[in-house]
Amino acid sequence: MFRFFRPCLSLFAGFVLSLELSAATPVIIIDPGHGGSSTAGSLSSRSNSSPNNATSPGGLKEKDLTLEFSKILHDEILRQASGKGTRVGVLLTRQDDWNLNFIERAEIANRPDTACVISIHFNADGGGNAKGSLALISARERNANYAADEAFGKALAEACNAGVRQFLPSSRSRGVITDGHLHGGLGSNFFFQMAKHKEIRSVPKCFLEVEFIDNPAVEKALLKSGREEKFRVISRSIAEFLVDWVESGGR
Ligand SMILES: [Zn+2]
Repeated sequence: MFRFFRPCLSLFAGFVLSLELSAATPVIIIDPGHGGSSTAGSLSSRSNSSPNNATSPGGLKEKDLTLEFSKILHDEILRQASGKGTRVGVLLTRQDDWNLNFIERAEIANRPDTACVISIHFNADGGGNAKGSLALISARERNANYAADEAFGKALAEACNAGVRQFLPSSRSRGVITDGHLHGGLGSNFFFQMAKHKEIRSVPKCFLEVEFIDNPAVEKALLKSGREEKFRVISRSIAEFLVDWVESGGR
């Protein structure tokens, strides 16, 4: 289906600009995972994005939470960059409840000024007891950028979890895991599509799994009352890391 969709890039000063921008401004790509009501892409072309994976005990869907969280994170990055005078752009791959296949997500991320690619997700383990934030990266055997991805993912998961712990003190950062277990050892189709683009092959890329939303304790602590403000506090912690990372020459 044709979409009237053109991603808009926002700069720290709050302007929304077209995609043409000075290459001197690093751009953080925020990808809200999932979306819409049907699978986008196909397994055979390794482009399939499921509409939703995790659901909370009360019925909150991961695809809605990823979008809500990503919009707040977008605003927090720009707010902090503005305060510190750091030049940075933020680009969301989707801004509404639609799904994009992984080819489309990779094409949006494929820019000469991309500094990093972060796909936002919420986790579930099926047991309802797990807690913690983690980053998922492409496995070493397929990833020339493994060391940088690992360092970036670890710091990102820790920054996220520092925010989460304000509301759920028993949560911990689980650090970094790799995609080696996915698709029979082939790894994530998201990273497979991203790796096709030379421009972004050497920038840090990861999934950030904010928390396990099938855990009733996580749902109660984070997702019910005051969710927007809680997401803002968590996003502030992530944005502090990201803006410092860009400022220190992350790319
Ligand atoms: Zn997900």
